[in-house]
Amino acid sequence: MIPFEVVYTNRMNFDQQTIWLEIDLGAIRRNIQRIQTLTKRPVMAVLKANAYGHGLIEVSKTAVKAGAAWLCLARVEEAIRLREAGITVPILVMGYTQPDRVPDAIEHKISLMVNNQELAQAYHLAAKQVKGKVSVHAKVDTGMGRLGVLYEDAVDFGRQIASLNHLFFEGIFTHFACADEPGKPITDLQIRRFDRVLAGLKSYGVHPKMVHAANSAASIYFPHARYDAVRPGIAIFGLHPSAEAKLPEDFEAALSWKCRIASVKTFPPGSGISYGHQYYTTQTERIAAASIGYADGFRRRMGNIALINGQRVKQAGKICMDQSMWRLPDDSPAKAGDEMVLIGRQGDERITAEEQGSMWETVNYEVVCGLTDRVPRFYLNE
Ligand SMILES: *Cc1c(COP(=O)(O)O)cnc(C)c1O
Repeated sequence: MIPFEVVYTNRMNFDQQTIWLEIDLGAIRRNIQRIQTLTKRPVMAVLKANAYGHGLIEVSKTAVKAGAAWLCLARVEEAIRLREAGITVPILVMGYTQPDRVPDAIEHKISLMVNNQELAQAYHLAAKQVKGKVSVHAKVDTGMGRLGVLYEDAVDFGRQIASLNHLFFEGIFTHFACADEPGKPITDLQIRRFDRVLAGLKSYGVHPKMVHAANSAASIYFPHARYDAVRPGIAIFGLHPSAEAKLPEDFEAALSWKCRIASVKTFPPGSGISYGHQYYTTQTERIAAASIGYADGFRRRMGNIALINGQRVKQAGKICMDQSMWRLPDDSPAKAGDEMVLIGRQGDERITAEEQGSMWETVNYEVVCGLTDRVPRFYLNE
């Protein structure tokens, strides 16, 4: 197995590190419990993409401890990794899986998404070959325009699944396109379409065991979309689904991103800094070089910010692969070895993943998913 995440559980001493992430597992546990209390539903914790960059294995163990009823992933390989790590709760792969993988899914008790009649038939035949039964969740496209059988065809599709004896019709689900913009009417329309599918199946006596739909934003803002279980991802990490669909105030961001200053130098006016000399000092300036670059998941753009000595500092010159330079205030006591914060708190200042996301013209989701494997994750408050 590829060593995907470096795990240093409960090591509070970061002296040896030049760049690292601190993941507060206590915050993740409490966020999951907050979702359970708020929605009064079992939580299907969505931990795709290395648990939104936070680290799949440790976050999964924490989610199970917090009471998550299911874990949901995007790819079957992630699910197999969890089984190999000894996780036994039900797992759903929400993305597309090749029919060749059906024997693996059966062996590891992994439930698969199925999104059309051809795939259902292929899974049925693959399961038949190994004399097994594969658990499936039918995906219905009620308006996302991505995976899923179109809602008009979903009743026929459900009846087909129910008739194939090497499939176990375990669940049916849909996904919302705009739940993080609660003012838009499309989510309610998607819910009505989904309800019509469920009623149609019922009229034929087809009752998939579990009905689920709500991502984080819908879990909070659309109570009638909670069905049998909710399927939150971003909220687990204490990150807001969007500026319009904020989490309740008590949720806690779990991740901090830190690195160290590698050197501090004073340059005369007119000194070019970093590749391409996009930045020239205009006076005598103190410039710090820090151990963070685009290969860690930082963005190679101009105008970035960070925290040094509890103050906001600005980038000076282009971001390099492993390093970057930062303009220090003239009176800054910063020196080599000091901590710099990219996401998190320092003194009275704070930079959130949401703020980095808006500076990078993207969302907090992409910021945390972009954190690369070479940045070690330290797990606190297990
Ligand atoms: C990613 C994803 C979720 C979780 O979405 P969040 O906005 O992170 O809560 C739920 N369902 C599906 C199908 C997804 O792809």
